[in-house]
Amino acid sequence: MTGPTFRTLDEVHYGRVEQVSPLIRRVIADNPSKFTYRGTGTYILGRGDVVVIDPGPRLDSHREAMAAALTGERVRAILVTHCHSDHSPLAAWMHEATGAPTYASGPHPPPDPTWEALAEDDEDDEDDEPDGHDKPVAMEEAIDLAFTPTIAIADGDRVPDTPGLTITAVHTPGHTSNHTCWALDEERALFTGDHVMGWSTTVVSPPDGDMADYIASLRKVAGRGDATLWPTHGPSRDDAGQYVAALVAHRLEREHGVLAALDSGRTTIREIVALLYADVRKELHKPAGMSVWSHLLKLVGEGRVEVEGCGPPALRAVYRRTR
Ligand SMILES: [Zn+2]
Repeated sequence: MTGPTFRTLDEVHYGRVEQVSPLIRRVIADNPSKFTYRGTGTYILGRGDVVVIDPGPRLDSHREAMAAALTGERVRAILVTHCHSDHSPLAAWMHEATGAPTYASGPHPPPDPTWEALAEDDEDDEDDEPDGHDKPVAMEEAIDLAFTPTIAIADGDRVPDTPGLTITAVHTPGHTSNHTCWALDEERALFTGDHVMGWSTTVVSPPDGDMADYIASLRKVAGRGDATLWPTHGPSRDDAGQYVAALVAHRLEREHGVLAALDSGRTTIREIVALLYADVRKELHKPAGMSVWSHLLKLVGEGRVEVEGCGPPALRAVYRRTR
C-alpha cells in the first residue's frame, strides 16, 4: 500500500514576511529541529485589521521579525493551535504589545501523577548506545504550561471582531488534547498547526496525545473539503482530502502491525518495537515505543487488546489480544 507523500519546503528566509496567498502572509522562525522541520511558520491573515496564528517560540529574532511585520497593522486576534513551546510562547508578548485577545481551546492540562507512574520505564537500558554517552532522545516538543488564552474557544466558535476575515475554531484533539485548527472561509483554508503537517507524520505521545482522538480528528479534517491546508511546519497542501485520508490509512496500517505483532507472540512494547521498527535506529526506539503505546491504549479502549493480569495499561505492561 502506498503511504502519504510528504513534501519539502525548498527555500526558507528566516524572519522575512512572505505573501503566500491573497490573504495570508507567513514569517518563519529560525528554530529548525526534528519536530519543527525548517522552523515555526507564524501566519498573518488580512491587511490593516489582521489576525495572527501561532506567534511562535521564545526567540528574540522571531519576536523582532514579528514586531516589524506587524508595524502599522491592527492585530484583532491572536490564535493558538496548541501550547507546545514552538507555537505559543510569544503569544504573551504579542498580547501585551498589541492588546489583542488570545484565543485557544484552553491551557494544557497539568501533569497527572497517575500517568507518570504508568509511563515509568524501570528496565535497564541495555539496548542504548554502548559508548556510555547516550544522548537522551527528546520524545516530543516541550509543553508551554504558562500559556492560558484570554478567551477559551470551543469547536465551531467564530472568532469575533475580525473584519473581512471569517475564522472558525475546529477542535482537533490528538497531538495534544487542546489542539485546535483554524478555518478561514474566504480562502477555504485550514490552519492545521501540528495536527496535519505537510512534511511528516505527527507525534502522538500519551498521556496528553491520544491516538483514538487523533484518528477521529484526522477524519474530521478529511471530511471538511478545505481547498488548502496550512501547517505550522512545512509546505501547504492543496490535496487535503486525499492527503489526510492517506495519513489515516498510515495510522491504521501501523495499528494492524501492532495487532499482528501480538498475534505472533510479542507481548511487550519493547518486543513490538523491535519487530515493527527493526530498520529504524535504536536511539529512536523510545519515541517509537510511545507511539506503539498510544496505539495499544486505543486498542485497549476499544476492547480489542487487554493487559495480562488485569493491571493498568502501563508502558511496561504485558499485552495480549482479547479472547
Ligand atoms: Zn506540537
